[in-house]
Amino acid sequence: MTLLCVPLVSKTVEQMVADMAAAKACGADLVEFRLDHLSNFDPRRDLHLLLGDRLLPALVTYRPNWEGGEYEGDDKQRFQALCLAMELGAEYVDVELKVAEDFVRLISEKKPENFKLIISSHNYQSTPSSEELSSLVARIQAAGADIVKIATTAVDIVDVARMFQVIVHCQEYQVPMIGLVMGEKGLISRLLCPKYGGYLTFGTLGAGKESAPGQPTISDLLNVYNIRQIGTDTKVFGIIGKPVGHSKSPILHNAAFKSAGLNAVYVSFLVDVLADFLNAYSSADFAGFSCTIPHKEAAVRCCDEVDPIAKSIGAVNTIVKRPTDGKLIGYNTDYVGAISAIEDGIRGSKGVGKDETVSPLAGKVFVVIGAGGAGKALAYGAKEKGAKVVIANRTYERARELANLIGGHALTLAELENFHPEDGMILANTTSIGMQPNVDETPLRKQALGVYAVVFDAVYTPKVTRLLREAEESGATVVGGLEMFIRQAMGQFELFTNLAAPENLFREIVKKHI
Ligand code: NAP
Repeated sequence: MTLLCVPLVSKTVEQMVADMAAAKACGADLVEFRLDHLSNFDPRRDLHLLLGDRLLPALVTYRPNWEGGEYEGDDKQRFQALCLAMELGAEYVDVELKVAEDFVRLISEKKPENFKLIISSHNYQSTPSSEELSSLVARIQAAGADIVKIATTAVDIVDVARMFQVIVHCQEYQVPMIGLVMGEKGLISRLLCPKYGGYLTFGTLGAGKESAPGQPTISDLLNVYNIRQIGTDTKVFGIIGKPVGHSKSPILHNAAFKSAGLNAVYVSFLVDVLADFLNAYSSADFAGFSCTIPHKEAAVRCCDEVDPIAKSIGAVNTIVKRPTDGKLIGYNTDYVGAISAIEDGIRGSKGVGKDETVSPLAGKVFVVIGAGGAGKALAYGAKEKGAKVVIANRTYERARELANLIGGHALTLAELENFHPEDGMILANTTSIGMQPNVDETPLRKQALGVYAVVFDAVYTPKVTRLLREAEESGATVVGGLEMFIRQAMGQFELFTNLAAPENLFREIVKKHI
């Protein structure tokens, strides 16, 4: 079982003791006292306070600044404090590989039976090759480690695959190992630890309480990623994007997996080059992916087979790895998600039942702002429903290409300002304009909104964008991006699992978290 460790980085002993109680209440297995973060640290006085009558097992670390810590003094005093921590019953002490030999010599006669020495190596620049990582493990072991700890930095998410390989290798030889890759691109090394057999992973008490870059909170580890349920056989799903940290998809899909009793976890993958990522995580365990900005179009090229609708749209937002042959199959659930949300929005506003056979989009002018992944899905969908599609985009050339592809009309953003061929038009924003944090921005001035009967915004953070607020003030029926988000996610869940998506649960979670 991978242990959950909360790093304690407060400046005072009192706060560390209080944080230890909070860590226990959250469900941590142990805490790491980062002695180098304490102001005016007095080993004799403070270690008794920290280690006496403690609520959780303790890992004690006194990291020097030459290894990324805050301690600036000499090793003699540092070692004395760590030795004292061991004598006072700390279960673990962490010491750096560079000085491990001296420390091991110092404690060799006094090491208590249940005490474990972690010997660590940190690389704040990159992640070395698999061979270099393996030889580092061997050096750390040879130095006398009970537990090997290697923390590197993810320059690219593919770096984490090498760390996983090394942890698995250590498992085979029964060498306990903590292998973590720092930074946002390394997040999966922290979340998927139990799958590969990592000895422990760190979870913080909250933002600003990290001891290394990229640590998630313990609350997210336990309550979003359900980390206690992750094991060797757990299937991994996730959202591929850049940026991706803001995505609420992990909250939604993990809750749905849990409610369906599936042995699966959903994470976020901060990916630079889609093809490299898919190549590095080609094992059957990485079973399905959602794709977001800017990878939806590249995903069409990276899949072995693409569903005809996704192919026509030219954008894939869902990739499923077919279990029988490992082939990647691409789909698009944005199209149905957005179009059905707009149709139901219009029908609802008119008090008409949802099951009308003729689409309320049929025959209407449907203006799409944007020609990226979401723009393509909306334009394709509106055309399928019989609308007269018009595409306006910052890069006019892309608007023209899309208009040619689906049989529509292209405009520049400037032309859109005075575009009014008929009444009752529908407007759909598919750019990120107005998305947090730029909530004061809008893709079309309020003065130009009066000619639209219906306005949809794909942006869903905030729930009500400036565009929607001003459209409503101008008398339009408005449909928010959240409805599209819920529906496209339901479509993805069904493709990932072959089960019906738990709609009520999805709606409850969205209400609570977005
Ligand atoms: P994308 O493929 O990168 O396309 C972005 C589009 O927005 C392009 O047409 C781009 O124009 C335009 N654009 C970006 N910034 C702009 C700016 N400052 N001014 C004018 N135009 C700008 O992205 P996407 O995947 O289609 O996503 C677009 C938006 O839709 C995002 O906000 C995303 O969160 C949202 N979305 C929501 C859902 C949902 O479920 N509600 C689903 C998918 C997407 P150029 O061609 O000139 O670059």
